[in-house]
Amino acid sequence: MPHTQPVMIITGASRGIGAACALLAARRGYAVCVNYREREVPALAVVDAIRAQGGTAIAVQADVADEAQVVALFERVDQEWGRLDGLINNAGILDRQMRVEDMDAARVTRILATNVTGALICAREAVRRMAPRRGGQGGAIVNVSSAAARLGAAGEYVDYAASKGALDTLTIGLAREVAADNIRVNGVRPGLIYTEMHADGGEPGRVDRLKDSTPLQRGGTPEEVAGAVMWFFSDEAGYSTGSFIEVSGGR
Ligand code: NAD
Repeated sequence: MPHTQPVMIITGASRGIGAACALLAARRGYAVCVNYREREVPALAVVDAIRAQGGTAIAVQADVADEAQVVALFERVDQEWGRLDGLINNAGILDRQMRVEDMDAARVTRILATNVTGALICAREAVRRMAPRRGGQGGAIVNVSSAAARLGAAGEYVDYAASKGALDTLTIGLAREVAADNIRVNGVRPGLIYTEMHADGGEPGRVDRLKDSTPLQRGGTPEEVAGAVMWFFSDEAGYSTGSFIEVSGGR
């Protein structure tokens, strides 16, 4: 028998925006699969926090850049709960800040493998389970993009920005492709959000350096992004597909 609660997979959910989405999704009644690549201890802490608030969750290791691991992730959820209603493609990476003239192909390929290929393969597995013509019940997918897709991240990580532009095009195309299957696909573009990602770019204090350049004159929180992401899964969002919410303080 399929699980009584709706089921959601969130990639890269051990910390930051993904963890905030996991906690909010659980409060909205989803059984949540907290995917993580390597940080098992914080992923289990997210699961514990969900269970402590009365929710249902499991943590499953998988590198979304590896197709076989993505397939295994979704099969694990099949075994656990027997249904799938939502996917948040949240896992994303960037690399040290540098100019395009100093980048090499290995770096760009690594970023595209997670941010674009990983999101597409996760979406493929979700559609295979959600589409009524394949025995599913419909569902929704949200891709966590970035304001960088609009702004370009000049001097910092144009490769990352380009990957998010590709993700936005994936959102539009897939939304149109699976609309008749009662699957909605939307995107959220966060701006400057306080997470540990900026340290991976070599500048942990990046949000505070740039926050005054945003019209709202502050950085955003993972919870503010999670609120926009989860709106797309609500009944109120039933007529929205192939669309985007900016969570970027007006920037
Ligand atoms: P984060 O680094 O805390 O979270 C990203 C998570 O994805 C990490 O837990 C990481 O381990 C995981 N991950 C990376 N590669 C993975 C892979 N191949 N397989 C599985 N998991 C993987 O940063 P965050 O700010 O919470 O980022 C979440 C999303 O939001 C990303 O897609 C990011 O591009 C986007 N975003 C963040 C900001 C910001 O200012 N923080 C702005 C715009 C967009």
